[in-house]
Amino acid sequence: MSNRAALYIVATPIGNLEDLTPRAQRVLAEVALIAAEDTRHSGKLLQHFHITTPLTALHEHNEREQVPLLIERLRNGESLALLSDAGTPLVSDPGYHLVRAAHEAGHPVVPLPGACAAVTALSAAGLPTDRFAFEGFPPAKSAARRRYYESLRAEPRTLVFYESPHRIVESLADMADVFGADREAVVARELTKQFETIRPGPLGGLAEWVRSDGQQQKGEFVLIVHGAEATGADSAAEGARILRVLLDELPLTQAVSLAARLSGEARNRLYDLALSLQPGRSGTDKMPPGL
Ligand code: SAM
Repeated sequence: MSNRAALYIVATPIGNLEDLTPRAQRVLAEVALIAAEDTRHSGKLLQHFHITTPLTALHEHNEREQVPLLIERLRNGESLALLSDAGTPLVSDPGYHLVRAAHEAGHPVVPLPGACAAVTALSAAGLPTDRFAFEGFPPAKSAARRRYYESLRAEPRTLVFYESPHRIVESLADMADVFGADREAVVARELTKQFETIRPGPLGGLAEWVRSDGQQQKGEFVLIVHGAEATGADSAAEGARILRVLLDELPLTQAVSLAARLSGEARNRLYDLALSLQPGRSGTDKMPPGL
């Protein structure tokens, strides 16, 4: 491990102060300086843990001027920590330019894992998590937001959004319209806090539930939406694409069988397609029984 000064990226709680790890507490107490998105906000967190390390502001409006000064401190041998207001820095939060500059200047960048609202919500959502797409905040204006949801309508991965309490009602209504009222989703509100609410249901029902209950419109939100189911049209197109490639390399029945397994498309339909693509092979390459 290099003994050059390091930049520590420190995750902080998203509501429950018990979620600040012992390692984070130690590192925050040991570094020379903490760069925080909002020094007053982070000051309260540090005070709670009796940490007296000085703070400096690093946010989207001063990152350009601050980054060279912070890199200079690293060059002088002072290790630094980066904090955002809550959760993991750089996840819908500033810090990217500083992290990049630290790498470029040859300083170790050391992440301290901890809370992240998106991952916390996903872990309790009960929706597929083997693949997911983190989308951050949707556009604020309805027309742009609807276009943006349209662009995600066929996305098969589970979708993860952050949303503001000012837009939660309209945004859920737009989601129900664009993704469909029956699409499964989860509203995760006030995670790790007193009024934590994790509510699964179809988008239409969730939109109505939040609209009709003012209490459910308060606080911080993660919205998780089930990915699009593969349609018959998708598997047919995929099957045809795979079949065309395999027919160049394999006997017809083997190509059909593999294309069906890979795409989920019916074997008999792919067999008919293969014959139409390669009519000359139909006499010698019969579809075996059971297809
Ligand atoms: N860096 C943070 C993280 O790791 O999750 C996210 C920062 S982003 C500016 C803030 C948004 O995260 C909030 O508007 C909300 O959508 C989501 N969020 C943060 N804390 C949350 C909580 N306790 N419950 C639900 N959502 C939360």
